[in-house]
Amino acid sequence: MSTGEDASNDPRWRKFVDVGLKCSCGETHVGLISLSMLVPAGWPGSTDPDSNENLNLDGNFLSTDYCVWEGKYFAIRMSLPMRIQGIESPALLLSVWGSVDRTNFDAYVAAVRNNTLNDRAHAPARLVNRIAGFPDTFGLMGAAIQQPGEPPLLLVLNGADNKPSDHPLIHEERNGITLDRLFDIYAENGHDMRSSFT
Ligand SMILES: [Zn+2]
Repeated sequence: MSTGEDASNDPRWRKFVDVGLKCSCGETHVGLISLSMLVPAGWPGSTDPDSNENLNLDGNFLSTDYCVWEGKYFAIRMSLPMRIQGIESPALLLSVWGSVDRTNFDAYVAAVRNNTLNDRAHAPARLVNRIAGFPDTFGLMGAAIQQPGEPPLLLVLNGADNKPSDHPLIHEERNGITLDRLFDIYAENGHDMRSSFT
């Protein structure tokens, strides 16, 4: 059965996963690295994360998984995976912040604490990062789907006005990205490995 081009034999991919690629950040990366957004865009507080157990719903709070802004806005660390066309796995992982309303934030925190995360549970969520390599991604609307043992999956569905949109992030999360696009996204996020190919 043909599933289109098999990128897993592309010499660039083979070099990346077998021996690694020298990167503009000074390291050599062997295989996919995730791109992690440390804080929501515009975050005014400390970037030094507190522990999840110290979650405080008043004022500003940041841990690796939760962010509370002035006691009014609530965000959760979420996963936004981008499949690579022609490669079974893994996917490029964008680790992002998604904001949810207070009710859904409380429900999520309770589910984590009670160990009752459920992959049928989902809530409306808004991406609150500007991801380099895309037109402005801030505010895109989607659904956060719980994943037991992992951050929720953020499925980006609509524009910031919650109406259908042709934003590339929506299309590429759904359909995957090419190898060329993978290395362009990395470069835009401070990991340019493309000189290893020439
Ligand atoms: Zn790098």
